[in-house]
Amino acid sequence: MNLPLIGIPSRTINDPVFGTRYGGLATYTRAVDLAGGAPLLIPLALSEDALHAIFDRLDGLLLAGGVDLDPASYGEEKAPYCEEVDAEKDATELALTRWALAADVPLLGICRGIQMLNVAAGGTLYQDIGHDVAGSLRHEHATGEPFNRIAHAVDLDPGSRLAGILGTAVLDVNSLHHQSVKHLAPGLKVVGRSPDGIVEAVEGTSGRFVAAVQFHPEWMLEDDTRMLDLFRAFVTSAADYAAARRAGGISAPAAITLRLSLDTENPLGRES
Ligand code: MN
Repeated sequence: MNLPLIGIPSRTINDPVFGTRYGGLATYTRAVDLAGGAPLLIPLALSEDALHAIFDRLDGLLLAGGVDLDPASYGEEKAPYCEEVDAEKDATELALTRWALAADVPLLGICRGIQMLNVAAGGTLYQDIGHDVAGSLRHEHATGEPFNRIAHAVDLDPGSRLAGILGTAVLDVNSLHHQSVKHLAPGLKVVGRSPDGIVEAVEGTSGRFVAAVQFHPEWMLEDDTRMLDLFRAFVTSAADYAAARRAGGISAPAAITLRLSLDTENPLGRES
């Protein structure tokens, strides 16, 4: 068996509410495993050379949930209602995401992952939906609620890749976030919104698999089998990428050198 290797940047574990099981990103690694991929947790705070050596071996990149991005990463002051940040996770994911975009490595973003994808490609975020978006629904998780609780619908563009994978243009989803995409990065398109207009799904505009959702499909695998279809489509794309690379159809991404930093400079430009 030659399963595609799916890298998942880890996180700093200091969350007494969720505990180490969630901190270990077990729901994400399990979903990739069930979908036929081999998940690999990537440590934080590595040297750029070590991080790139890992990246070179990846067939796909999964950006998981986690704490808020530091608004400095998209050129804004940190508002009082912006919550905990993780500088090492930010730096690791910004580098990996930009490398993946530049090398056309298949990428799936979940929750913080859709936010990271947007920021890494030059977009910005609402630092708190409740403060920044009048009339918004409650997107946050309340203590004690199950993580698979249906919170709101998402209307998908019927012609989108995600609608094709999920086999529907309307999806009921969970919601465990207080931030979301504000200005969309170039190279991305919005393909799904909640009824209050919050961005819940984006895709890349190129043909390669670049997709991200604001909800948590990994918590809904037992409730809605279409959620596993999303992971399967991602893993299949990663397997195709691996096969193309083995066949010599893809040049080594090692040629790409991007600085590992929180610098807002980025290779895909910024939409002001
Ligand atoms: Mn939501």
